[in-house]
Amino acid sequence: MKIAVEGCAHGELERIYDTLALLEQKENVKIDLLLCCGDFQAVRNQDDLNCLAVPQKYREMGTFHKYYSGEKEAPILTIFIGGNHEASNYLQEMPYGGWAAPNIYYLGYAGCVNVAGIRIAGLSGIYKGRDFMKGHYEKPPYSEDTKRSVYHIRNLDVFRLKQLQQPIDIFLSHDWPRGVYHFGDVDKLLRAKPFFKEEVLTNSLGSAPSQELLSVLKPKFWFAAHLHVKFPAIVTHTVTDEEGDKQVGVTKFLALDKCLPRRHFLQVVDIPHNSEQPIKLSYDPEWLAILLLTNHLLSVKATTQYMPGPGGTDRYIFNPTAEEIDAAKARFEDDLLIPLNFEQTVPPHDPTGHPASRPPRYSIGPNVNPQTTTFCESLGIDDPMVLIGGVRGVGSPFIAKPRGDDEEETGEETDDGPSSLWSISTSGTPSRSSLVLPSPKLTEDEQEQEMEKPKEPSKETFEPPRITEDEEDSSAQNMNESSIPSVKRFKRRNYNLYQCGSEDD
Ligand code: MN
Ligand code: ZN
Repeated sequence: MKIAVEGCAHGELERIYDTLALLEQKENVKIDLLLCCGDFQAVRNQDDLNCLAVPQKYREMGTFHKYYSGEKEAPILTIFIGGNHEASNYLQEMPYGGWAAPNIYYLGYAGCVNVAGIRIAGLSGIYKGRDFMKGHYEKPPYSEDTKRSVYHIRNLDVFRLKQLQQPIDIFLSHDWPRGVYHFGDVDKLLRAKPFFKEEVLTNSLGSAPSQELLSVLKPKFWFAAHLHVKFPAIVTHTVTDEEGDKQVGVTKFLALDKCLPRRHFLQVVDIPHNSEQPIKLSYDPEWLAILLLTNHLLSVKATTQYMPGPGGTDRYIFNPTAEEIDAAKARFEDDLLIPLNFEQTVPPHDPTGHPASRPPRYSIGPNVNPQTTTFCESLGIDDPMVLIGGVRGVGSPFIAKPRGDDEEETGEETDDGPSSLWSISTSGTPSRSSLVLPSPKLTEDEQEQEMEKPKEPSKETFEPPRITEDEEDSSAQNMNESSIPSVKRFKRRNYNLYQCGSEDD
């Protein structure tokens, strides 16, 4: 099965699908699945855009809303994880995954699904030590702090993933596992990104929890994004088998760039699948059992929470037994096909911006998504959004109350200002003051931050990648993947690094 892998999407969903359509036409192939490694920007409307932690000048509506509203249909089954530029208020509605739009599936804080016999797991967000031990306490409307902490990964989600025992085919993360660069052409990486040198030398670039996951799970493939550079590596693991013999296992790692013209943002890999099964998403029974067995560890508090370990009387290993897996499956009556139950929970962006077409005011607080409710009720686990006081969104019968008539008149005054009906300000302070542009320095944990844009994006044409062997990249060949050669280097005049002052300091 042909799987397209995308680095950061940064809201450019339409371009990605257009590029894939060109590729399919040119190469006469069919792409069965698209995987996106975060910075997806599932922005439904202006309120979502306000939740995005991104400098004002890069705050763009993007094209996801077209797929959310139904104006366009995602042509390829798409799975994505979250990064550090997300409509986190929307992703928080689906902590265990769900359809962000028809045919576009978010994997959750952590998740594992099956597609025609291919097992795909992933972890959303980026690692930041300060928030790692906390519960999922953030909720919209966010402060300037929680707008950023909300996408930092938590120990519970890593702990859950570490319980997976059955083999993983593909793992998705946004930031790279720490140390992975030592398994590839690190000199070439540093030529492209010289400012990573010190962190590479001190082995401090990337996520330590993901490094641990990589060594525990040993997936066949690991795809990542965030640093906005293509980087393949072959990671070797030493595995001791039952007879005590040492074997070498291998993970093919690939990081990709973001979606810009003539950049390595897409890669097609061919992975054998079970052709007897439809190319549809199914829940993973082992993962369901882990969610069920660890539900008591879920916290929505900002306080430190340790994961259980040896020494106490409580269970601390949650590798599910066959019986526990069967029990989890039984809760879904053994039908693990993920239901196609997408529904809108807030009104989509209206490109016309006509006041008359604006919907009544709705809650910008934590929304409870009916998909999550269905999932949690079936499995018998808690929805963190409910624990934190979420309310049903507008897609459900429990609609947030419309505005009073007296307030409605103000809706015509502005289009985008914080007082408009559409953009109810999420916090008192605008984010502009916290940005330093451009900065020669990168914050310690946010190395990806070079947000360059094509000078005239409308005139840029996206060359479809060709399915050919990539000669300069031998490990890519070994991956049995079709590579996308870059014809020309994108000129880097606009090489602005930015630093989000309050981002993570
Ligand atoms: Mn990123
Ligand atoms: Zn990115």
